[in-house]
Parts: sequence; C-alpha cells; structure tokens
Amino acid sequence: SLSDRLGGVFDKLRGRGALTELDVRAAMREVRIALLEADVALPVVKTFIDQVTADAIGADVIRSITPGQMVVKIVNDALVDMLGGDSAPLNVDVTPPAVIMMVGLQGSGKTTTTAKIAKRLNEKFGKKVLMASLDVARPAAQEQLRVLGEQISVATLPIIAGQGPVEIAQRAKSAAKLQGFDVLLLDTAGRLHVDTALMDEMRAVAGVGAPDEILLVVDSLTGQDAVNVASSFSGQVELTGVVLTRMDGDARGGAALSMRSVTGKPIKFAGTGEKLDALEEFSPSRVAGRILGMGDVVGLVERAAETFEAEASEKMAARLAKGQFDMNDLRSQLSQMQKMGGLGALAGMIPGMAKAKAAMANGGPDDKTLGRMEAVICSMTPKERAKPDLINAKRKIRIAKGAGTTVQEVNKLMKMHQEMETAMKRLRKMGGMKGMMAMLG
Ligand code: GDP
Ligand code: MG
Repeated sequence: SLSDRLGGVFDKLRGRGALTELDVRAAMREVRIALLEADVALPVVKTFIDQVTADAIGADVIRSITPGQMVVKIVNDALVDMLGGDSAPLNVDVTPPAVIMMVGLQGSGKTTTTAKIAKRLNEKFGKKVLMASLDVARPAAQEQLRVLGEQISVATLPIIAGQGPVEIAQRAKSAAKLQGFDVLLLDTAGRLHVDTALMDEMRAVAGVGAPDEILLVVDSLTGQDAVNVASSFSGQVELTGVVLTRMDGDARGGAALSMRSVTGKPIKFAGTGEKLDALEEFSPSRVAGRILGMGDVVGLVERAAETFEAEASEKMAARLAKGQFDMNDLRSQLSQMQKMGGLGALAGMIPGMAKAKAAMANGGPDDKTLGRMEAVICSMTPKERAKPDLINAKRKIRIAKGAGTTVQEVNKLMKMHQEMETAMKRLRKMGGMKGMMAMLG
C-alpha cells in the first residue's frame, strides 16, 4: 500500500522539522504510482501532484508522527478537497415538480439509481415522487421501472406503447403538474457507447423536461472509460451532478477523482449495492481513504495534531497564569496558526483577544504573512525575544535587515505582540487560570 511505499522513502529520515523538497519529490513519485493504480486519469494525477508538492514542501512535521505519515495526511487532505469537500444535496426545493433527469450509458445503473433516489426522497424527505421511463430502446425497460416503483410504493407514469422519449417526457411533466407531485424523475435510455443519436435524444428530452438536475450515472468499475463518458456527456448536456455506481465493488475510487475534475460537477451519490436502499451521500473523506488505502494513518495524524495542540496550549496556559507573553509565545502561536490553518488555539478561544485577532486578519494571516512574521522573530536575539521592551529603533533596523524585511513589518509584529500581551494581562486580572477555564467551559 501507499503507506508501505512512503515508509520506505522516509525510513532513512530521522530528523523532524520541515519536509524538504527532496523528501517531498521522492514521496510524490510513490503517490503518483498509487493514484495511477487506483485508476485516476493521467492528466488529473499530474495536476494533483503539482498542487500537493507545492503544499507539502516546507510543511512542519508534527511531533510523534513520521514524515511519511505527514505526507499521507497532506495527500489525503488534498484528495478530499479535489473530491469536492462536503457532499452536495439534490436541488429539489423549487416550484414543484422538481425535475431530475438521469443520463448515462446502458447498464451504468440509471434505472436502479432512479428508484433509489425516489425511495430516498419519499421516505427521508416526505416528497411525493413520480418516476417515468423514457427508455423505449429496450423492450422491458419501462416495465423494469414499474416493478421497482411497486417495490418502493412510488408512482410510475402509465406505459403507453408507441410513444417516443420526448412525448413521454411531455406527458410525464404535465401529469406531475396536474397531480401535484413534488418531484419527477426521468429515467432515460442508454447506449453501449456515446453516439450522436443518444446526445440528440438527451438534448431534446432536456428541452421539454426543463430539468432542475441532470445527473450523470457512471459505473465506477469502468475506470478510464468512465472518464471518457463523463467528458462526452458534459460537453453535450448541462450536467448538475454525478452518481457513481458499484462503489460496493473493488473500485478504488480513482473514477471519483477523475469525475470531479473532468465534469467540474459534484458527485452527489454513491451506489453501494443492488438493493434499493444501497445509496449513500457521496463522502469525499471515505473515498480519499479508499484511494490511499489507509484511513488509519489519517486518523493517527489528526490525533497527533490534537495532542500537539493540547500540549502547546497547556504550556501557554501555564505562562499566561503568570502573566507572561513574550516573543517566544507569539512565535509559538504563529507557528500553530500556520500548522492548523487558522488562528492559534488560544487566540481563537479567548474572547478578550478580538482586537488582536482583527489585527491579524488585517495583516491577512496567510502563510506568506505568517512566514514573514516568524522570520522577524527569528532575527531577534534570545534576550530581545524574552524581553521585547528592549527593542528600540536601532534594534528594529537590525532585526528588519536580518529578516530581509522593513522596519514597518517589525513594527506591525511589535504591535501585534503588544495587543496580545495586553489581552493576556487583562484576562489574568479577570481571574487568571480559573477565570480562563471557566470561560472556556
Ligand atoms: P441502466 O441500464 O443504466 O438503467 O442500469 P440498471 O439500473 O438496469 O442496472 C444494471 C445492473 O447494475 C443491475 O443488475 C443493477 O442491479 C446493477 N447495479 C446498479 N447500481 C448498482 C450498485 O451501486 N452496485 C451494484 N453492485 N450493482 C448495481
Ligand atoms: Mg435502464
């Protein structure tokens, strides 16, 4: 697995501290192989690796985990991000009937997914649902949907022989309107391959159905083929989302990663079996874990990060109790901000620090700014760090030079320190440790 591969790369590495460019590039070679093995499309892999490499170089390694594990965590986060972050809900809260059109190749799971979504909308959201099959290509297709409808107690449009897909779509739409259905699901015909006739038919149906959602159904087991299907469909109809079926099989999730970047549309559901309740909201974190084959490592790193954070906060709280807050404390807050991607734990929790927080926000607590501030602190002598009052105009010039920045930047940092120190002192007056603990609940 990828964790073994990375373990090998980093075995030689004893030291902690920041990840070097050489380590990261070596690790990315392994990540690249793992992604290709998981069936992620080549251009997608390339974009992904470039982005993650940039993220990982210079990242600090949290104590108690290995650099390899740290890389896995960074890769995992980037995968989750690329898979779309949070899951996207169906857009059915419109003037009824909301129309959902299902498209995709034959055998991808359109009809089954139509019934699964109908069941879900009906049972979980109390929607009154009508399903209509526009598949006149396969003789038993309309009957298949009718039988499924009976199983889940969802209405299906009565079958009239001899009608074409566009006619059926029209009839379904007016029936849904007249009979007060909340949602109309249009299950369309597939083909074995994408062809012009199919695309013409999809566009014509979309024209009369005016769907609120056009969901592309793809079989996650077909790997590269799924990517080609997705790009042909997304060029022809206005997709709003993707459903990946057969995620219960041994598909490693590579299709999901490609899908998102090829269509630019969210993956809304994952089909996880033949049964009609085997439909899940798509979970980027679960799929990321699957691609990496190592949910455990990600969890481990998250726990390590929490412990690290807790230890740092404890130390800080102890100093705070004595009313101390020097440049070393500020530095540790800054580096926490950088690591956790936000304000430091303590800074974020203390109400009295709103002003300091605002000052940070004005400076834009992005990585670059934080990096510059750290450089300024590094350029101070240990004495100056422990006793910032020592820093006069002359020292400021020296510090700025050492950090490769301006006196203005040094002043900004001094001001931030001043504000945080004041907030800490005020907090101490309010009851010190006990008061703080009470405030933190
Ligand atoms: P359509 O031609 O696109 O309408 O595909 P169908 O809905 O008829 O499905 C084709 C086959 O795939 C059926 O045997 C389904 O039971 C099966 N199927 C659909 N979705 C899933 C899924 O998520 N997991 C598994 N294991 N089978 C599925
Ligand atoms: Mg079908």
